[in-house]
Amino acid sequence: MDTERSKNFIEQIIQSDIDSGKHQKVITRFPPEPNGYLHIGHAKSFCLNFGLAVSFKGQCHLRFDDTNPLTEDSEFIDGIKQDLSWMGFDWGNNLFFASDYFEALYGFAVQLIKADKAYVDDLPVEEIRNLRGSLTKPGQASPGRANCVEKNLDLFTRMRAGEFSDGAMVLRAKIDMSSPNMNMRDPLIYRIRKATHHRQGDKWCIYPLYDFTHPLSDMIEGVTHSVCTLEFADHRPLYDWLLDELKTPCHPQQIEFARLNIDYTIMSKRNLLELVNEKLVNGWDDPRMPTIKGLRRRGYTPTAIKNFAEAIGVTKKDSIIALSTLEHYIREDLNEKAPRAMCVVDPIKVVIENYEAEEEWLEAKIHPKKPELGTRKIPFSKELYIDANDFNENPPPKYFRLTPGGRVRLRNAYVIECHKVIKNDQGQVIELRCTYDVETKSGKTPEGQKKVKGIIHWVSKPHALNCEVRIYDRLFTDPNPGGHKDTNFKEFLNPDSLTIIKSAYVEPSIGTPKTEDHFQFERLGYFCADKDSTENALVFNRTVTLKDTWAKK
Ligand code: ATP
Ligand code: MG
Repeated sequence: MDTERSKNFIEQIIQSDIDSGKHQKVITRFPPEPNGYLHIGHAKSFCLNFGLAVSFKGQCHLRFDDTNPLTEDSEFIDGIKQDLSWMGFDWGNNLFFASDYFEALYGFAVQLIKADKAYVDDLPVEEIRNLRGSLTKPGQASPGRANCVEKNLDLFTRMRAGEFSDGAMVLRAKIDMSSPNMNMRDPLIYRIRKATHHRQGDKWCIYPLYDFTHPLSDMIEGVTHSVCTLEFADHRPLYDWLLDELKTPCHPQQIEFARLNIDYTIMSKRNLLELVNEKLVNGWDDPRMPTIKGLRRRGYTPTAIKNFAEAIGVTKKDSIIALSTLEHYIREDLNEKAPRAMCVVDPIKVVIENYEAEEEWLEAKIHPKKPELGTRKIPFSKELYIDANDFNENPPPKYFRLTPGGRVRLRNAYVIECHKVIKNDQGQVIELRCTYDVETKSGKTPEGQKKVKGIIHWVSKPHALNCEVRIYDRLFTDPNPGGHKDTNFKEFLNPDSLTIIKSAYVEPSIGTPKTEDHFQFERLGYFCADKDSTENALVFNRTVTLKDTWAKK
């Protein structure tokens, strides 16, 4: 592989496996459980796994880890595939389902039983848990541990045949009840669950557990490097034990890395599901959600997400990444890509008293640094809107925007001067009377006219398109909403995470944008068209704020 940066520790392991001839072809996998949609935490894993396959010219499998019929749904399978495709990742023909291996897995379980390495335990699960001991206390054997092979085979066959009810018995690997590693104290590998599986229907009433399914699925697919998050490090001895005991033809290597945590964010699918089910957000694709669907609707791009994942790197040390780091990468990408437009979100009317023409069409660049993108036409007329906070009757020092008697440049247009402030009965400013200086037309400004410090955005009132603008803030008010023992994460929901502005106005050059089309609304931030937009009622999401530097120049 050739990249400019130095290799992370996983790439180093793979490289040395290739150099030593241990592997010719690298096979990784991304194994989501279809019990929710993908989130930005998963992005670290799928960018890594698909990225390794690309850089080592191998392949990355998409495997649905669908062993729990109670929580899984084909809605999530389709959603996850859609998200990965949108990200630009390609699993080719390598789409797999752990449930397709149920027959093979059953065979492996029987093989373990025959080798006296697994037994049926009919103690209640509660009891089994109690007998497992603790970090300081060794576990104790259940009576079932002493079953003979024949009895275990008979019971397991009957488990499969549906003779016993849910929870009546389980199959356990027979390893070591006094192991210092709790995962090795005869872990559960099969349980009874009389539930309909989204792919297998009612074919099965026993289901293999994750720790049993995962290494064997990796092995069946010939995965070479099974990359997972650090909490599975303690499960690795079990991963290896199973493959060793079953003398499998290949033995993938499990490698752990630190999971991604982001401040002010919740990343567990279970918690995200709660937010959705309790309607605390507007679905999985709510733009405040850290899901891929939410980020996409918010206006994030695959490039930004990949650059973010690449930048945070891959290590074995847990850390919390600032949400602002993620925002940096979308800002960086959209700064390059987004066409510019002007939008006024809190309009006050400006009447240009000395403007005699009906209208004129000014020209502005679509992108300041990309002349190849061309120009756009911006209408100017006697009645304009500017944003209320670009006018101040009692300006503080160094206030360069519009003030009574003051001058300001209208971006891409003229310099105007304010002569009169009109207020309603409540004392609110509702209209500004101004004059414009025809000599100050943008682009043709004589040197002498340049001495206006402030530049503000505006739209022409009769031409502007009315639109709805949705402004988002962090979903949680606490940097670590899931990290409090005594307080539920939902207590930290930010009541101001969504502000809907119905009466915003945007310049007409944007036409009829398609869902997810991006814009930089000058001085306001990056926005994208929302799927709720209709031809007559545009809706924009603010993706991220802008660092406003030029207004203060
Ligand atoms: P959650 O706790 O959100 O439900 P999960 O680990 O149960 O996540 P899976 O669908 O099992 O979700 O995850 C698929 C893959 O994504 C796994 O390999 C898992 O390690 C990885 N993954 C999940 N969350 C993160 C994260 N925050 N950072 C990095 N990788 C993650
Ligand atoms: Mg999981």
